[in-house]
Amino acid sequence: MTCAFGVTPESGARPAVRGTGFQVASRLGVTAVSPVRPYTVTFGSAGLKTRYTPYLTAAARQLREAGVRIRIGGGESVAADRCPPRGHIHYTQAYRPVRRGGYSLGLPCTAPPDGVAAGGVVTMDSEYFDGTWDIAPYKLRNTFVHELLHTLGLDHPNRDLDGDGTAGPYECVTGPGGVRPVMCSPNGGHRTPESAGRLTRFDLDGVRALLANAQRQGAG
Ligand SMILES: [Zn+2]
Repeated sequence: MTCAFGVTPESGARPAVRGTGFQVASRLGVTAVSPVRPYTVTFGSAGLKTRYTPYLTAAARQLREAGVRIRIGGGESVAADRCPPRGHIHYTQAYRPVRRGGYSLGLPCTAPPDGVAAGGVVTMDSEYFDGTWDIAPYKLRNTFVHELLHTLGLDHPNRDLDGDGTAGPYECVTGPGGVRPVMCSPNGGHRTPESAGRLTRFDLDGVRALLANAQRQGAG
């Protein structure tokens, strides 16, 4: 978009919803992440907190460094198909939450006020943990982060790169070493033990765009 002499007002400017390697979940009404309000990760039980926290700490640190006020909280109960209290990102576990083996589900609370992410729910597939689904450790780490970023308003950045008319599975830009965004569908992210479970630079660009959108629209 070209603006003539900056006549577009600062407030009310259209949010950036896509860029290289990222896609904002504007289809779900989320276009921003608050740089001011806190986000708290909660868990369906104390046992899940113990099991899940190690998968989330590195990404939470990256998000804080990028300007998201996120912390790991404790257990709470949230009714099925309900949004948790505002700002809470609730992790729970169920057998095949999308009725497909090995798939987990992360959703933001849809259409939050001003499009500013207000939390959401992540349902991890129980099969990863009961031995019935064989998932590589790096892929599991990345799945935790992929679903977390869904709740903050990132969507799949798949694009029709080969020009066949559809943005297919794994059809995402790659960085050094062929690394796809962790938000790539059905999965992506770093594969090494040191880097799995971390946002790639594409995903960080997406988070920065979400934060900038909040500032652009003057929303907290
Ligand atoms: Zn996804």
